[in-house]
Amino acid sequence: MKDIYKSQSWKKIDVVVRIDLITVVEKIRIGGKLEIPLKYIRTGKECVPVDKKQRILILSCLKELKLKFKEIGNSLYVFWEQSNFDKLENGEIKIGEFLGYPNCCSEAFYKRCEKFLKNKSPIGPAQIFWIKQKMAAKEGKYNDDLDFWLHIPCELNCKETLAMVSKIRKVLEENDPEAAVFFQELHKKYRT
Ligand SMILES: [Zn+2]
Repeated sequence: MKDIYKSQSWKKIDVVVRIDLITVVEKIRIGGKLEIPLKYIRTGKECVPVDKKQRILILSCLKELKLKFKEIGNSLYVFWEQSNFDKLENGEIKIGEFLGYPNCCSEAFYKRCEKFLKNKSPIGPAQIFWIKQKMAAKEGKYNDDLDFWLHIPCELNCKETLAMVSKIRKVLEENDPEAAVFFQELHKKYRT
């Protein structure tokens, strides 16, 4: 385990940011997009400033890790290789690829969104996934590694997704057990 994961400043970082960050630091994916937590919860469309303390904590952590980053608005794009971020900026790769999501899942996601927006489907990709999760859980056929999703999988048995979620679970449980428990509890709600 890296010393940084044991530090007090790491533990003060918002847990959702830690989850996104660990998966890039541990090279499960080439890039990540961290959302700097806001000062308070948005209740409408008003613009909420970012939490400055969180921003400073995250930035100092990125520097310590020697991870490259680019700040755009409330987001921090993080990556090891500059060329990967350049490819994203000049359109050579799409955001899904930069974030390490399997191509089959990205394509299914866009297709299902389009169907939903054109009123050809009553539900969007996330709801389709949650319904499948619930059914599988009821039938006792659910692989709970799937609770560690960062993207909406095309299918519950998508091989690339299953490989990715099991890696995410492993690195979270090894390096930040608190984040692992938080993440699983958060996602469990969708399938129970
Ligand atoms: Zn897939």
